[in-house]
This record gives sequence, structure tokens and C-alpha cells, in this order.
Amino acid sequence: MNQSELLYQQAKKHIPAGVNSPVRAFGAVGGSPIFFDHGEGAYLYDVDGKRYIDYVASWGPLILGHAHPEIIAMVAQTAKKGLSFGASTELEVKLADKVCELMPNIEKIRMVNSGTEATMSAIRLARGFTGRNKIIKFEGCYHGHADCLLVKAGSGALTFGQPSSAGVTPGAANDTLIAQFNDSSSVAKLFKENTNEVAAVIVEPIPGNMNCISPQAGFLQSLRNLCDEHGALLIFDEVITGFRVGLGGAQERFGVKPDITTLGKILGGGMPVGAFGGRADIIDHISPTGPVYQAGTLSGNPVAMAAGLKTLELLQTLNPYKALEAMTAKLLEGMQNAARKHDIAFTTNQEGSMFGLFFANADTITSFAEVMRCDVTAFTQFYQSMLRTGIYFGPSAYETGFVSIAHTEADIKATLEAIDRAFAEMVTTTTSS
Ligand code: PMP
Repeated sequence: MNQSELLYQQAKKHIPAGVNSPVRAFGAVGGSPIFFDHGEGAYLYDVDGKRYIDYVASWGPLILGHAHPEIIAMVAQTAKKGLSFGASTELEVKLADKVCELMPNIEKIRMVNSGTEATMSAIRLARGFTGRNKIIKFEGCYHGHADCLLVKAGSGALTFGQPSSAGVTPGAANDTLIAQFNDSSSVAKLFKENTNEVAAVIVEPIPGNMNCISPQAGFLQSLRNLCDEHGALLIFDEVITGFRVGLGGAQERFGVKPDITTLGKILGGGMPVGAFGGRADIIDHISPTGPVYQAGTLSGNPVAMAAGLKTLELLQTLNPYKALEAMTAKLLEGMQNAARKHDIAFTTNQEGSMFGLFFANADTITSFAEVMRCDVTAFTQFYQSMLRTGIYFGPSAYETGFVSIAHTEADIKATLEAIDRAFAEMVTTTTSS
């Protein structure tokens, strides 16, 4: 038994399934969780000393790679002054100013501690602001685990075939209406059936929790138009896409203005941070200026603010987005070539440095239904082979991959060589079985 396996046995004693978040259990791809010791740049090192080229990036935040020296220095310097005051600090002001500068649709912003808190609070705010109860979300989109959003959700909820969760009351789920991503007629229909009842449409502008899906031309704008027509608010959940697909997020990339934006991941540079922001008149509806209650003991925590601020400053200085997109395109092109060579039914999606891998006979995957038809057995076989070679993708067929600025041409080449071998192995196994 190696160190990871030993730790896993130990972990299961006092931690449910040995993990603190379900996808980490590796249930979807077989095997047991890897316990990591440290990360450096594009690499993760497990407790047995094995190195992995990492395309998970802590599920998105680490766009600058693991343990970026300037971020670590800033965190260490801030931590020396104390870990938490539960009171105001200059760092919160600086980070708020920076986000508003980079994302002009955000005029005011409140910091929280996770993406879940951000979306949960944004929904409460939208309801409080409009005086309406219902929300529209999309099948396969994941917005954290608040009750009203845990209906037909993506990510771990999808991986475990549990579109909703036990413990969510019908009352909490009833006000959540489900539409289909990239199908604006499904949204128009819900608005029609629920006249003057819909507070908000919440969407991942680039869904990253049912694998990675691109919005089709005009789809996001159609949501904007429908919300305007029906007096509802448009919430972009940019927890993944914020500062990932560009400094201004998906809203800048597609030129569509949401009323409220939720952020997380990169905003905290690897520390636990979330935020929700938007039109000043809407955000001012939260307490203490408005009637919608929202609070947090650790919100705006100085160490977390420091990591986020340094991350955004570095991103602004480096502006790595074109290079990241080109590197990601190179990786995906190489994968597709390898798939053609070995005659594997396989396709990819890309938005900036986000990517999706699909074992399917299709040119592009644009809908939840198409994602569900992908060959999960083939993914699992591919996944295990990659892991053995030291390439770390998300342990589920429904997650998005991420390229960071720490990935080098040599990393991409090594990844593609491993993929070529994995595809060759898959052909052999399929033919011999
Ligand atoms: N929204 C989106 C789009 C996400 O991808 C996630 C997490 N993967 C969340 C919200 C929830 O964030 P957290 O896990 O920080 O609560």
C-alpha cells in the first residue's frame, strides 16, 4: 500500500468517504483519492513523491500555477500581521476597486468565502430586489450547493447521478425552474408560464460543470433580452470564468451585461473567496443599506484578499490570455490528431484556457443531452492511463480542464505523448475484448 492509500484508509475513519468534497473520492473513475503533498508551477506532487502535470488547477483558481512566488510572498507578509480581524481592512477596498475596474458591469461588490455563498446570496438579493420568488437555472449548470440551486445541477451532483439532493425540500426546489442551455425557447416558455413571477435567470455563461460547453452565438444576449422583457435580473455565475477567459470574464468576451455577477476561484488566488457584485442600485439592497440580509465572520479576510489582489495585479500586468488560449488550442489540436490517428471517437471544446474532452462521435458538443451521451467508460479508461503516466485531469467526465501560465511547451508535448499512448492502449483493449 502506498502513502496515498494509507492516508485514504485513515481518512475514512473520521471523514465521510475520506474526502471533504465528493468528486475528490475518485468514485467516477475508479481507484482511490490521491493525497497531494505540494504543488509548484504546472506540477502537483503526491505524498508518494510522484509528479503530475496538473490540468485541474484546484478546479480553476490557479491560472498562474501552483505556489506562485509573488502570491506566496504577499500571503506570508499579510499573515504576519494577523489572520483575521472580522473588521475592515485596506486590502478589501483595494480588491473591490480592482474588480470594479476590470469588470465594468460591477459597480459594487461584496466579498464572501466561497462560490456557494456568492450564488446563494445573489439569489436572495435578486428575490429581495424584485419581490418575486422564482428563478430559472439550466440543467447541468452548477452554482454551488445552496438548496434552491441544487436542482438538476452539474459537477459532483452529476457525477453521482444525483441531479437533486436528498435533504432539499420540495419547497426549496419548487421555485427553481429548469431550462436547457443554448436553447432560448426553453427560457421564453418558462417566462410565459410564470408571468411576473421570475426574479432572475442564473447561468454559467460558459458552463464548466457539465464538462465545458460554449454558448452559441446570440444565446447569452437572448437571455439578456428575455430578462429585460419580463423584468427579471440576469445573473452571470462567473465563479469559473471570471478572470479566466479574460480580465473582464465571459461578460466581456461575449459583450453581454449581467445585472449581478458571482465570482470565486481566481478572485481568491487559491484562498477561500467568493463575491457577488453588479449594478449599484441592486447591490445596495443588501444589509445594512438594504433589507436583504447577508453577512460573514471571515468575509474579506485579509490573507485571502491579499492572495486575490496579487493574482489580479499579476494578471493585469502579464495579460496572458492570448498566450493561454494559443497553448490550450495546441494541446487540443494534438489530442484530436491523436484521436484521428487511433480512430477514437473523440472531440474537444475550448473557451480561452478552459477545455472539455468528450468521447463522442460528434464535431462539437453544445448541449447537456449531448454531454450525457458521451462514452464514460472510454473516459475512465483514458483517465486511468493518464494518471499512471503522471497527467492529472479532473476525476470525472463532467469537469472542465484548465491550462495555466506555468504550463510550458514541454509539458504540452509530454501530455500529448502520453495521450497518444493512452489512445493506442484503448484501441488494443477494445479490440481484444
Ligand atoms: N459556481 C460555479 C460556476 C462553480 O463552478 C462552483 C464550484 N465549482 C461554484 C459556483 C461553487 O463554488 P464553491 O465550490 O467555492 O462553493
